[in-house]
Amino acid sequence: MSSTRDVYFVIGGSGFLGRHIVQQLLARGDIVSVFDIVQRYHDTPFYSGDMTDEDVVADALRKSGTTCIIHTASPPAGLPNPDIYYKVNVNGTKAVIAAAVATGVRKLVFTSSASVVFEGDDLADADERLPYAEKPLDAYNDSKAKAEAAVLKANDKNGLITVALRPAGIFGPGDRQVMTGLFDVYDKGQTHFQIGDNTNLFDYTYVGNVAKAHLLAADKLTTPPPAPPISQPPTSLSDIPP
Ligand code: NAD
Repeated sequence: MSSTRDVYFVIGGSGFLGRHIVQQLLARGDIVSVFDIVQRYHDTPFYSGDMTDEDVVADALRKSGTTCIIHTASPPAGLPNPDIYYKVNVNGTKAVIAAAVATGVRKLVFTSSASVVFEGDDLADADERLPYAEKPLDAYNDSKAKAEAAVLKANDKNGLITVALRPAGIFGPGDRQVMTGLFDVYDKGQTHFQIGDNTNLFDYTYVGNVAKAHLLAADKLTTPPPAPPISQPPTSLSDIPP
């Protein structure tokens, strides 16, 4: 872990997960700013802007003195227009990377999604060795995979070190998607439908734990120390001590 404390910049910090990350950073006494298109809270410095604009992001990074970006922003899944996902998730994430590299930010933690490896078939014990889906289910999933790939590829650019986390479903206080969807189904009287034979499993993680994972990932993001020099192997028998 680095000895000096990071200065955090949470993109999407007005959102469900972003807010929990901000609250946990504040609770442990860290310096944190929020960057978002909407302001919902007033307990941190706030930078209003669209992350697809590299200059706006870079300006806010400079002003806030950021050393660590936690990028959680995305349009919600399930929107009818696929273009918004490519604009925000792919081009926007590339703009964030470019702004981070240009301003010398050291760390970038990206909220990806478990859906980047999902093609509609069951996945058990899947881990990061699984390739991205060849046929992503929709534009949201495809754009999250492309954004994640760009973040990981940016590792080591001008000293930037990056990591991506892939939560599946997230639940907890402040959620506007998962429970809303379930209540919608209930309100419409659609509860008599069942998909599968009632043995289907899906991963849900409590939002506080997903937020904690982001803080831990940020804490652990350090440039690996240089490998120790490799000692020369003996070239003849006389080199080997008796
Ligand atoms: P959310 O909609 O509550 O929050 C997203 C925030 O990003 C919002 O405050 C929004 O205003 C902001 N934002 C959107 N576009 C922006 C832009 N162009 N510039 C700046 N800010 C912008 O979403 P959430 O549920 O907190 O999800 C956070 C992250 O977690 C997303 O990246 C999402 O893909 C991922 N994720 C969520 C779930 C889930 O179940 N909620 C599951 C897996 C992955």
